[in-house]
This record gives sequence, C-alpha cells and structure tokens, in this order.
Amino acid sequence: MSDREGIEEELGGPAASEMVGSMCRRIVASRSILITSHHHPDGDAFGSSLALGLALRQLEKPVRVASDHPPPQRYRSFDPDGLVEYWEEKPPHDAFREVDLGILLDASEPSRAGCLAELIGRPGMDWICLDHHPGQRSPVFTHHWIAPRAAATGSMVLRLIDALGVKPDRSIAISLFVAIATDTGWFRFSNTSPLCLRDAARLIAAGAAPEELYGRIYEDHSPERMALLGRVFSGLKLELDGRYAWSVIDRAILESSGVPREELDGFVEAFRGIRGAQVVALVVEVEPNEFKVSLRARGGAAVDAIAASFGGGGHAKAAGFRRTGDLGDLLRRLRSKVEETLSGK
Ligand code: AMP
Ligand code: MN
Ligand code: MN
Repeated sequence: MSDREGIEEELGGPAASEMVGSMCRRIVASRSILITSHHHPDGDAFGSSLALGLALRQLEKPVRVASDHPPPQRYRSFDPDGLVEYWEEKPPHDAFREVDLGILLDASEPSRAGCLAELIGRPGMDWICLDHHPGQRSPVFTHHWIAPRAAATGSMVLRLIDALGVKPDRSIAISLFVAIATDTGWFRFSNTSPLCLRDAARLIAAGAAPEELYGRIYEDHSPERMALLGRVFSGLKLELDGRYAWSVIDRAILESSGVPREELDGFVEAFRGIRGAQVVALVVEVEPNEFKVSLRARGGAAVDAIAASFGGGGHAKAAGFRRTGDLGDLLRRLRSKVEETLSGK
C-alpha cells in the first residue's frame, strides 16, 4: 500500500488512513518510543512489536521494545540482536524515563500489558494503540486504531510502516510474516482473508520463507513438550455429546513435565481436530489456584462471549480468560456457559 492508495476498507478505510497519518506525525515528533504488547506474547504480539521496532530503528528513532514475559523460545531466534526486553516484574519507576510515546499492539486493555500496564496513561507520555480484537475505543490512547477484520495486528503494523515510508527489509518481513501466519494458524483459520494473503505475498517477496519459518516455529519442539502433549490428550474429556472437549494441566503435571509455561502455546489448537468438537478448552494452572483458560470454536460456535462472561476476551473463534479460585467450580461454570452457547441461548 502507498499513502496514495490509502488503507483498505476492511481495515477501516479513509478514517483509518487519516488516523494512521496522524499517528505517523506523532511518531516522527516523538523523542523516544516504547513499543509493547500483551503479556505472554504470542507470534502476532511478538512479531508485530519486533517489526515496528526494527522499522523505527531504520528511521533512527530512539526506540525500545518491551514485553511482560518472554515469548516461547521458538520466537526468540527472530530477534538475534535482542531488541526486545523482557520484564517479569514491574520495572522500576524510572526504567522508561526518557520515553514520551508508547505504542500498544495486539491488545486494547492496559491491564493486558501485564507488569508494564502502569506505564499506559502515565503523565508525560502519549499512547497509540493498534489492535484487531473487537472492542471500544479508549480515551487512554491519543490514537486507537481497532480493525476487527484484520487477521492479525501484523497487517496493521505493515500499513503503519508503509505510511512511515519504511520499506520492509528481510527481518521486518519475517517478523510480520510470523505475526500474520501464527494468528491465522498458517493461513487456515476463518480469519484468513484475501487481504492477509496479499500481505503474505508481499512479505515472501521481501524475504520471508514460509517453509523455513514453519519449521522453526512448529517443528522444533522438545521431547518433554511432546510427552506433555501426549498426557494432555490422554486426559481429554468429552462432554455435551462430544461437542465440548477439554483438558486440564495442573501445577503437579506442569512442574513434573519440566516444560516452561510459554511452550504450551499451540496445545489447544491440537484439540480442534477432534471430530464433532465445537468448543475446545485448555485449562492451565499457571500459579497455584490461578488458571488460564484458552478457548477455541469450530463450525458455527463462538467463544468470545464465554470468555467475556469470565472477564476475558478475544475473537469469536479464539478467546481466553484468567480465573483464580477452585478448579472444580471453574470447570462447572465453564461447562454451563459452553452448554448455553451450544444451545444458542
Ligand atoms: P490464547 O488462548 O491465549 O491463545 O488467546 C486466544 C485469544 O484470546 C487471543 O486473541 C487473546 O488475545 C485473547 N485472550 C486470551 N486471554 C485473554 C484475557 N485474559 N483477556 C482478554 N483477551 C484474552
Ligand atoms: Mn495476541
Ligand atoms: Mn493478534
């Protein structure tokens, strides 16, 4: 896309073009920029942040990219220079003293930034947000571009980079390809659109090699992770006439497996292949009595409303939430929400 062509209708059309133009002016005027995304970043959060960081570096803008927790090991090789900083606890209050502009990617709720959340809305800093999760614009951001029809935040970042006049080099192309390919399940989920395939074509032309990238991301797992996946499949439960499939990884299982939590990324997708399952869930006890629930839907079912009813969010086909408390109680409530959804209530 060039400035002249503007941003496509499905990403917001002329209004989005205007907002992106204004974002560019704010970016160019900034002294120092911080890019962040949601905690426990996935491929889209990580790839989008890295790509935008690399693009701003090309413009010789002082930029830092920070995230709450590292992404899965397999993504870290895409950042050989260590541009992305990881924080596992709240940074000291002067850690980003020099920054006057923040950019939040792939999430719109400040709390989703985890231990970096307090920076959003901090006096002396403006914040820009690019997100493809459906939701309302928030006044916390001077510019809040929400494009629910974008397959990935990576597609939005590509347009911002274009508008900034940066030509994606090989590293930027790879980062954006990883963002879009991982959020679309390597171009097979229902969010796979002509537009994201056109973006992918451009990124391949700029140096992203799909086979090599797929191998690095999905065919390089530790034997321990494979063994744990086997255990999780063995513990799979089918309910509601096989339309609801779920499994739990509790602390004991997780600790004895030796698999770091971030390597569980992708487990819930494996359940989607179960015949007849319309809603699948993976419940992980991330801290004692603190659970992260990942939901996926197939066919006509949607899971965003289920996640929202527990205070979480996401898309119709992929959503999630966190919950503290009793596991049995959580599973009962979840089952009843799934039942309501499947019965169309
Ligand atoms: P996950 O199951 O973590 O892969 O997340 C699936 C989708 O749900 C992603 O689009 C997430 O951004 C969204 N999501 C997951 N957990 C939450 C949460 N606690 N709050 C809001 N959205 C979430
Ligand atoms: Mn994400
Ligand atoms: Mn995303």
